[in-house]
Amino acid sequence: MIKGICCVILAVLPYIVMCNPGDMRFEIEAVAVDEFSQFSEGDLVADNEGYIMSSLDGNTKISQWDNARIWPGAKVPYKIFDVEDDEEAYYLTMYAIDAMNAVGCVQFVNETDPKEDYLNIVLGDSLSSQLGNQRTGAQNLSITRIENWPNAGLNSGSIMHEFMHSLGFGHEHNRPDRDTYVEIHPDNLINSDNEPYFFKYIPNGDFNTENLLDYDVHSLMHATSFIKTLAVDPQDPVITGKNDNGYLGQRNDLTDLDKERMKITYSCGVCTGDNNDAIFRYPGDCKKYYICDHGKPTTMTCGAGLHINTKSGACDWPKDAGCTEFSTY
Ligand SMILES: [Zn+2]
Repeated sequence: MIKGICCVILAVLPYIVMCNPGDMRFEIEAVAVDEFSQFSEGDLVADNEGYIMSSLDGNTKISQWDNARIWPGAKVPYKIFDVEDDEEAYYLTMYAIDAMNAVGCVQFVNETDPKEDYLNIVLGDSLSSQLGNQRTGAQNLSITRIENWPNAGLNSGSIMHEFMHSLGFGHEHNRPDRDTYVEIHPDNLINSDNEPYFFKYIPNGDFNTENLLDYDVHSLMHATSFIKTLAVDPQDPVITGKNDNGYLGQRNDLTDLDKERMKITYSCGVCTGDNNDAIFRYPGDCKKYYICDHGKPTTMTCGAGLHINTKSGACDWPKDAGCTEFSTY
């Protein structure tokens, strides 16, 4: 991973991506990865077209706001390496899966012969994942030990961080509004090639943080205060908080906001209280939707050729259905 950060090369292309259940739209600069490097932002693997954030066909691939990158029905089939290959890594990974499932939202399900898209958990030479469901059948999530990487070696929290990427969640410290909360110190980065670690997702038009929830300096998905391997002077930080003198990030557990973000993205527990007749997107499928009936969600399907428009609350032509503007799923 460290090597990946050092050799990552960016080709900056203007790109409009991002669709969502609300109004938010982002203009993202697509990050192309050259043939000699594998990672962006430290641990994100490019898709099959060589892009981290977006694709040439205009489909959004960035993160939780694109229903095409979400796992259908909030279910993630997975296969995992043999326990005999590395007992410690195996049991830590299973512990991480149990912790993800315990949120009570997305469920990772072990399948020996998965028929759908699935996560292939492998022992590799990086701790890394792709961003969201790639719709390519098998996609790897790689586990390894990161030597000399304080607080991010082989531990269950670091593995959970990768599972969150596989669900479509990006880095908290690269949110469009991050400069209000943290300060990057580029002068202390080893070289400019490391700046992509702090690549910022740039909003297009009015930025509404409603769907992102509050900025969370303690998120499992936030850079930690201890990224010394990127620093010219390891005694000095490369990122500091502006409003909080405490620690940034951690690799122990999901925060309450991490869990809340997962539930919103995957429409878990949405039909509460008097939320009657409200509709919510069905994760990973724009033809389906949930309608609330006395506290319980019922799955509905739009007629042929139509996608759900969560804004108007009706099935609509795909081009008018907000969540599917760039999506074919
Ligand atoms: Zn990451």
